[in-house]
Amino acid sequence: MNLPRCFLRVAAVIAVLAGFSLPAHATINYTISLARPDQHRFHVRMAIPGATGNLEVQMAAWDALYQIRDFAARVIGLHAEDAAGPVVVEKVDKETWKIKAAGTVTVEYDTEWNDPGPFASQLDREHAFINFAMVLLYLPERHREDVRVRFLDVPEGWRIAVELQPDSADASGQTIAASSFDALADAPAELGIFDDFSFNAGGRTLRVVVRGKGWNRADITDALTRIANYETSLMGGPPDKEYMFLFDIGFGWGGGMEHSDCAAISIATAAQLPDTSAHEFFHQWNVKRLRPRSLEPVDRTREMWTRALWFAEGVTNTYAHYTLVRTGLFSPRQFYDALAEEYGEVEARPAHLWMSAEEASLNAWFEKYPLYNEPDFSVSYYNKGDVIGVALDIVLREASNNRVSLDDVMRQMYDDFAKKGRFYNDSADIRATAEALLRRAGVPAASTDLGSFFAQYVSGAKEIPFADILSEAGLELQTIEGGGIPVYRIVETSHPTDLQLGIRNGLLLGRTSQP
Ligand SMILES: [Zn+2]
Repeated sequence: MNLPRCFLRVAAVIAVLAGFSLPAHATINYTISLARPDQHRFHVRMAIPGATGNLEVQMAAWDALYQIRDFAARVIGLHAEDAAGPVVVEKVDKETWKIKAAGTVTVEYDTEWNDPGPFASQLDREHAFINFAMVLLYLPERHREDVRVRFLDVPEGWRIAVELQPDSADASGQTIAASSFDALADAPAELGIFDDFSFNAGGRTLRVVVRGKGWNRADITDALTRIANYETSLMGGPPDKEYMFLFDIGFGWGGGMEHSDCAAISIATAAQLPDTSAHEFFHQWNVKRLRPRSLEPVDRTREMWTRALWFAEGVTNTYAHYTLVRTGLFSPRQFYDALAEEYGEVEARPAHLWMSAEEASLNAWFEKYPLYNEPDFSVSYYNKGDVIGVALDIVLREASNNRVSLDDVMRQMYDDFAKKGRFYNDSADIRATAEALLRRAGVPAASTDLGSFFAQYVSGAKEIPFADILSEAGLELQTIEGGGIPVYRIVETSHPTDLQLGIRNGLLLGRTSQP
């Protein structure tokens, strides 16, 4: 994800609903009525077949953000019935209800959402945006069963954009289907009036849905084509057949939220589109498929403690900036300025002297508390992880005479874990992968041990000697303001050695000295 800067910094199927077929036994049927936009209330009806006695239904406590937000608190008037009439519903904890019923059980409730942005849901007269795990109950014991969602009372002229299969059995075009509740929760839906177009890039179809103004199709197509071509080639091919971008432009900076085959992105101006898109698109690999074991299996009722967000989010930031400079969307100057800004954000927070990147990852769940976001209390795993990513890249290139890079680590981890259906063990497997690549490249044993790098800068909170590390890439870290909060600037040194020049070009162009 990509959180709003004020939070982080110091401080389709475009429902061209036709042509797909469904599994024969979609089991759990939801309807979502949009009839009450002024009250911002979705009315949900959930039909569950095959009940035999006790049935447990649950509302997620978290989704999208790593924050407990207790969506059950928004539920109004939940009741249920089976063929014999109303049945007893017992609330057993803050997000779980028990229902005694047989046969097909119908559960109904309202839930209120008027929160803009990709991390929330909203129903108003302009549109509806739905992250399904925030709105729909699920069955903890049956979350892998097929689901179908039919939208009711959709205003005239609205269309549906969602990266899911439409239900061809519904000629109205207002029903979508997913192979499981988990798949449904990974594909937010936009309903309303929007522009849309598609094109091929990175070996597949990219679908673009835009709500808002101040953008043009040629610029978006150019930026996304460059991003998709570069990141797909870097990671060895597209992970799936289609990808959808859902953009809100001009409604304020709301951030971006990654999903396996789509991203929901809310930006204040179209100028923010390349950076945010490069970040979210890279998440298809890093975090959605190359995934830490600590985030699996997903438990929607409680915090999931992971030390890996410095890599999942911070190194995704590293790659967003690498992608921009390597595709010409950033000049080298813009790349250096962005990196200096990330470093400055780390340094400006007193907490960087005692909070490690791993600890910041574990503490992600505190980000809902304003005090925690104060500079004395936390560092951001986005900023610190971004800096660690570049630092690790330079250290690997320097140790291997520019034959091993962070690009190799990303590809190797993707091959070793994602492609084999395995999850990685947080920082330990990142370190092990990088060390194995150094050994394989013939680097002397004394230089293949990354233990102290990880102990000091990843699991420890030792000051990253960033000026020294950058100098290995022929770059100088300058402090351009004394007093108050220091501001940093990165400049190219004028007489780099061949190796320093090779490393610098490697960062900017994505090359190692290997053919
Ligand atoms: Zn992210």
